[in-house]
Parts: sequence; structure tokens; C-alpha cells
Amino acid sequence: MSLHPHLDDDVLDPDEQPTDRISSLRENITAEAFDEWYHEWKFRKNIREGNSYFNKAGYVPDPERHSPSSLLQCQRKTYYDNENAPEEEEAPEGIFWMGSKFEEEILMPFLEDMAEDIHHRNYVQNSMWVDFELEHDETEVHFRGETDPVICDAQGNPILITEIKSKKTLSKFEGVENPKPDIHHKAQVHCYMYGLTKSFERRIDKAMVIYGSRNNHVLQPIPVDFDLEFWEEHVVPWAARHTDFRINDELPPAEPQFSWECKFCDYSQRCGQTADPGFSPDLFPPAADWKDVDVDGFLPLVEYPQRKVVDYLRAHAPKGAKLTPTLANQHPELTQKFDIHPWTCGNCENEYPFGTFGWDGKTDRSPWCPECEEDRLRGPLPPEQHE
Ligand code: SF4
Repeated sequence: MSLHPHLDDDVLDPDEQPTDRISSLRENITAEAFDEWYHEWKFRKNIREGNSYFNKAGYVPDPERHSPSSLLQCQRKTYYDNENAPEEEEAPEGIFWMGSKFEEEILMPFLEDMAEDIHHRNYVQNSMWVDFELEHDETEVHFRGETDPVICDAQGNPILITEIKSKKTLSKFEGVENPKPDIHHKAQVHCYMYGLTKSFERRIDKAMVIYGSRNNHVLQPIPVDFDLEFWEEHVVPWAARHTDFRINDELPPAEPQFSWECKFCDYSQRCGQTADPGFSPDLFPPAADWKDVDVDGFLPLVEYPQRKVVDYLRAHAPKGAKLTPTLANQHPELTQKFDIHPWTCGNCENEYPFGTFGWDGKTDRSPWCPECEEDRLRGPLPPEQHE
């Protein structure tokens, strides 16, 4: 007799077809259900990991605050990020996930084995927090962030900081005699070395940036020694300059630090660094026309990923944020939840409610203004979108 007699009732007969169960499963395993489940899963994960502030719509850190992972990147991109400008691309969640799995399931056990082989009282701590303030030219800056695994002694004193970065390929290091880490990764570990030195009151001046290939799990570890001049003359002034931009509400200049930065930037249209390859100058407005746009509002006639639209609208609802006609057309399901700006003409400034015109959604062929016939319709410009 089964210990769980009620379970026997649920076992299928060999020739029984549970059609209702199958069709319910098929109906419920949907992209939308996954999207909702995934959102909730991330919400809970953020709370479990002590990052519940990520769940707050429109979280804007204090101007003084810096995350070690943003240091020495494009000032403007970091400003858009910190000030919660609407992102033009989905976050590459799959790449982030693979990076954290690579760290947890492969690099951590490797580091633990290596550390113990070298000394039986070497241990590895998943991460350590740094949280400290500095002053540079009368500007206060505050660094707060969490390291990757740290090799430490039996009392938890840090010995060697690691920073693990997964990359698609490590081909750029092939044949290089003394490979160097990317400068922003060097800045990141400098911030950890400085912060841990302060909190442990002992010199912690050795780190390793460990690059791993997502394609084939090849490693490229690169040692980094603390360089006071680099820290004091590059990293800290960068942070102080960024804080000044934020305190003064001043959009920083477009100064990408690396050749790849604009290509992967979530704000490239807003910033004006992208020329639409299909751009034809007689159609208004080409993507390339947007330039130096500040943080508020969507770009008219530009499409955005749904999650980014919802995040932005929730965060900016008190300021009267609404869908643009382009977004209402792109995400019709959102029109039940959010208001829609009217079509507007940039020439005669006439307005028409969304739905007045049929439109196939081609952003370079929006309806012509029926009043002046001089311009295609768009929506209000970003500064006009908030009350
Ligand atoms: S597009 Fe380039 S210059 Fe502009 S914000 Fe992004 S990274 Fe910076």
C-alpha cells in the first residue's frame, strides 16, 4: 500500500489522455505569463539580496553617490542612467545571468580550491561591501558597492580582491605579452582596494581582474596593484565632476571613454550619436536629428521596449508622463493603463488626438499635418511632455 494513497488517484492510466490538463498547460505557458512571472521573480530576488531599492520605480541615487562599476565610463551615459532617462534597449538580462552563473558555479569553486591549495587557512568570501566618502576640490563624493569574491584569511581579513568579468570572447588578449584590464575595471578594483583598506585599517593593494569567455570558458586573469596617482588624479576627479554635473542639473558632454561605448549605449538616439542607416533627409524627423536631449521625456517617433516604457511612466506619473502616439501604436495594451499625448505638428503646432489618423507605425512616415501640410506629425518634444 502506498504511503501516499491520495497520490495514486492522480496517476494516469496508460491509455488516458488528460486533454483538459494539457490544454490548460498550453494555454497558460505563454510569453506574457513568463514576463509577469519573471518580473515577480526579479522583484523577490532583489529583496533577498538586499537590493530592494532596485524595485522602486524611478530610483535616482543622490548626486554624491557612485557605484564602483560606473567609474570612468561616459559621463553623459552615467548621467542618463542615474537620472532615470528612458532606455532605448532592453537590458541584456541573459548576458548578466550567464555572467553571474559563471562566477557562482565555476569561478567560485575554482578560487576556493586554488586558495586552499596555496594555504590551508585561505578562504573565499562571496563579496564585501565598500561604503566611504571623500572630498575632492570641495565636492563630496560617496562610493558604495559590492565586490566580487575576495580571498581572505580565517578572520575574514581581505588578502586578494577579484573582479570577474565575462566576455563573449577574449580574442583581444591573444598574443598580448602584458595584458591590461579595461580602464573602468581597473578603476572599479581601485575603489574596492581603497574602501577595504579604510574599513579594515590595513593596506589592501592587490587585486585581480579575471576575464572569462562565455563561449568557451577560457580565462584571462590580470593582476592590478593599487596606483595612488591613478586613483587620485583620474578616478576621484571623474566622480567629483560627475557629482557636479548632477548637482547643477547640467547634461555632461558626449565623451565616450571607449570605442565600443556608443555602440552599446542605451541612450544613443537621445544623445545623438546614432545615424539611422535608413535615414532619408526629406522625412521628418530622422533619428540622427535628436541630439543632446536632456533626461526627461520620450523621443517622439522613437520606439522603446515595453518594460522600459512602463518603468518610466510609473516613475514619472506624478510629473504627468504619458505615452507618445508612437508608443501608443507600438504597445496598444498600454493604452488601457496610461494616457496618450496628442499628435502635434512641429510647424503649425496644431494637435490631434491619437486615433485621428490611420498609421502603419513606420516612424519615418508619420501622418502629414492636415492643417499646414508642411510637416509630418510627431508628438510633443521631450521637454513639453511633463507638466
Ligand atoms: S551615445 Fe556615446 S557619447 Fe552618448 S551617452 Fe552614450 S556612450 Fe556617451
